[in-house]
Amino acid sequence: MTHTVKPLVAGNWKMNGVRSSLAEFANITSGVSSALASKVDTMICPPATLTYLFAVGAVGTSIAVGAQDCHTADKGAHTGDLSAGMLADAGATAIIVGHSERRADHGETDAVVNSKAKAAWASNTIAVICVGETEAERKAGKAVEIVAGQLAESVPDGADAQNTVIAYEPVWAIGTGLTPTPADVAEIHTAIRSKLVDRFGDAGNKMRILYGGSVKPSNAAELMAVENVNGALVGGASLKAEDFLGILKAYA
Ligand code: PEP
Repeated sequence: MTHTVKPLVAGNWKMNGVRSSLAEFANITSGVSSALASKVDTMICPPATLTYLFAVGAVGTSIAVGAQDCHTADKGAHTGDLSAGMLADAGATAIIVGHSERRADHGETDAVVNSKAKAAWASNTIAVICVGETEAERKAGKAVEIVAGQLAESVPDGADAQNTVIAYEPVWAIGTGLTPTPADVAEIHTAIRSKLVDRFGDAGNKMRILYGGSVKPSNAAELMAVENVNGALVGGASLKAEDFLGILKAYA
């Protein structure tokens, strides 16, 4: 196991949560002891309507607040969009870019994801860059090739362990209850690590590579123990404090 990198467990709330959800967020913040926080970083990415409320709620705790997407531009005539600078101003310290739901629902290409990652950096936020193959691509034996291609195109030059986190999220595992075997996760994460080292040198060794896709308390310990898995990006199971804290127990 290579756990020289401090792991990160990040919750992606997607389009879930209203102001009263602050109570559940508070259950999460109060559930992370300082002993646990010394072993694992934690973050919740609520919908943008709650960024500021949660950021205020997180003051004095060890939980970071992130965002789920940003525009490539810093400002301008882009009705309905939000810039990385606005999200940072609201209290986000990281921004997920290239989530497969954004790629599928909004036609985001690797080039767009690359620009969004740079926009996140320009506002001093961490880019959490998502990659992952579809079920058909995995069945065709192309998982490593697809992920390597997304990585090459979506991650901008200049990435390092401070400004970038990679999230491997097989599309077929997201929200389905299905997960790859630990051996399959190890294969992809090892391939990602070697691509990062080839391109970024030692910085590539230090970048966090999260696994995402149906992580829950019952499978977290097994998945988080896989070599080159430096934490998790969690969707559904991050909405309830009990489940999210149950996942964090993998690091207790
Ligand atoms: C996600 O969408 O980032 C995700 C991992 O979702 P879930 O945990 O619900 O599969």
